[in-house]
Amino acid sequence: MCYVCDEERRPSRRGFLSVAASGALAGLAMTSLPAFAAGGATTNLTADEALAKLKAGNDKYVSGPELCAVQLNAQREHVAKSQAPWATIVSCADSRVPPELLFGGLGVGELFVARNAGNMVDTATMGTIEYGSGVLGVPLIIVLGHERCGAVAAACEVVEKKTKFPASIAPMVNAIVPAARAVKGKPGDFVDNAVRESAMRTAKQIATKSPIVADLIKKGKVKVLAGRYDLDEGKVEYFA
Ligand SMILES: [Zn+2]
Repeated sequence: MCYVCDEERRPSRRGFLSVAASGALAGLAMTSLPAFAAGGATTNLTADEALAKLKAGNDKYVSGPELCAVQLNAQREHVAKSQAPWATIVSCADSRVPPELLFGGLGVGELFVARNAGNMVDTATMGTIEYGSGVLGVPLIIVLGHERCGAVAAACEVVEKKTKFPASIAPMVNAIVPAARAVKGKPGDFVDNAVRESAMRTAKQIATKSPIVADLIKKGKVKVLAGRYDLDEGKVEYFA
């Protein structure tokens, strides 16, 4: 049994995606976001409530991890025609960092997730984040780095050894290099310091470079935080 599945679903969650999918993006180009978002129901959670829910889910994952398989059929049916995700997670593609699991065994229709090696934000990911908050009404955005991240370790190698990586891996890793360079020589573990620095830089990038997100932050509707997932303990910590 999953604590998410036990919650009573809000009627307002129903019937949104059909509206959003058909008219939302076109509306976004022409109208203000609040008017656009009013086209369908979104989550009722505030950013702080969403963060509290993520923290509770992660605590549950640390103390007694479980999947949500028992209720997935009902949950899938519930969200098949609408979605109102309440947190966007930008996380690494690393197979050990699946957001739905480490935040407490969440099922379908809960998190809006963008993943890539190193949890960086390119144009496609920024657009994804903007769609999440601007269209689907997601109040909380988390950039989730993690312990012993291979992509960040590769950026540290570039800084320390001028390592060259092939093909598209090179520019992917190079995007992390400024964060690694900024913490080189600082006390503590180089890679872990770079994981934190990169996540914080990316969170700041989202908050300041996206006009959609910046506007929603200004209106008190969205918060952006960086976080780090501990592979050993399963715990997520947050920092601005
Ligand atoms: Zn990683």
